[in-house]
Amino acid sequence: MAAAELALRGFRVVGLDPLRSYRKACGDAVVAREEYDGVLRKSNSIRWRIRRAIINVMGEEAYTIEFDRPVWYIIDKGRLVGYLREVVEAEGGRIIYKIFRKNIVKTGVIIDARGPYAHPPSKHILAYRYIVKARDWDADTVLLDFLPDKSGLYWVFPSHHGENYVNIGGGFKDTDVIDTKNLILNYIKRLFKEFRIISESGAPIAVYSDVEPVNGNVLRVGEAGGLINSAGGEGIRMALLSGMAAGRALESEKPPHYYRRAVRRLAREARLSRLLLRTVEASPGDSRSSLLKRLPEFFWRSFLSGELRIGVVLSAVLSSPRIAGIIVRSLSSSLF
Ligand SMILES: Cc1cc2nc3c(=O)[nH]c(=O)nc-3n(C[C@H](O)[C@H](O)[C@H](O)COP(=O)(O)OP(=O)(O)OC[C@H]3O[C@@H](n4cnc5c(N)ncnc54)[C@H](O)[C@@H]3O)c2cc1C
Repeated sequence: MAAAELALRGFRVVGLDPLRSYRKACGDAVVAREEYDGVLRKSNSIRWRIRRAIINVMGEEAYTIEFDRPVWYIIDKGRLVGYLREVVEAEGGRIIYKIFRKNIVKTGVIIDARGPYAHPPSKHILAYRYIVKARDWDADTVLLDFLPDKSGLYWVFPSHHGENYVNIGGGFKDTDVIDTKNLILNYIKRLFKEFRIISESGAPIAVYSDVEPVNGNVLRVGEAGGLINSAGGEGIRMALLSGMAAGRALESEKPPHYYRRAVRRLAREARLSRLLLRTVEASPGDSRSSLLKRLPEFFWRSFLSGELRIGVVLSAVLSSPRIAGIIVRSLSSSLF
């Protein structure tokens, strides 16, 4: 997104990426936002519009939340990235299919968009997903099933592959690839009587990364800058918005300064999500799921809409003495 923005603004862009086509495992769900709606439409990458979200905690339904307009899109992300590369090339830019090394560039501003791969493995968890052919999944509905004991979740989304294709995955702390796959396979079996696995793959998510969108003359966009919601693994929206901001930043006199200001809200949101994750992890085992189940519906609406703010979290905490009690206990146990 940053490269396309820059190319359209008349910069001569050289992009480096080891892979000719984007194929990282993903849930492919992006929060609907006016800022990049045009790009999603032009690239013809929107497959499904999500209006209903089911929130479960350890298999038990907490909420079914209906939205009066699409809150997420399921996109074909490979198609979107392919389109953005075409924009760069149509404007005279170049993509070189090589690994980025810092010493290639001696001066100027570098945009680091390496996603989770910009962070050491200690900051990652593994997320794994299956594309499954199964009937009985509504194309406007998503399910998130939180497993607070494992600091993770399962997701069930319609897949961009087509009708009756479902994208089911999960990511859990301290869980290796075999155990992650087994957990998800058992989950699929519980959910569908009949299904056929079409493909499977995994990738890291840097949910424990530091949130640091600027480092000297390097602008870090998306997950490379730590711009990800750690509590849900939602990062496409922040990647697109920060990519656009990096494009604008290079027209300013002080790009790092401009960019830091432009992504301030995203960085705040990413840090807040780290705090939520740490709070759940620090809560006594028996109260973690009751903490999630007691969160009010407005919290989940904001969470799903990419509108998580400190005010929302405080209102959620104050709405229930039980939640406030669990949080005070977990904060005091992590402080002392
Ligand atoms: C299994 C899974 C499911 C997910 N589901 C969702 C979801 O449903 N919704 C959502 O919002 N988020 C989801 N996420 C998170 C989301 O995928 C990322 O946050 C988002 O893709 C980040 O975008 P990015 O552009 O910063 O990085 P990425 O999409 O990771 O792109 C990084 C790019 O950098 C390239 N690269 C890597 N190393 C180098 C190098 N050394 N030199 C040059 N290029 C390099 C890669 O080839 C790639 O093109 C999921 C993540 C995983 C792993």
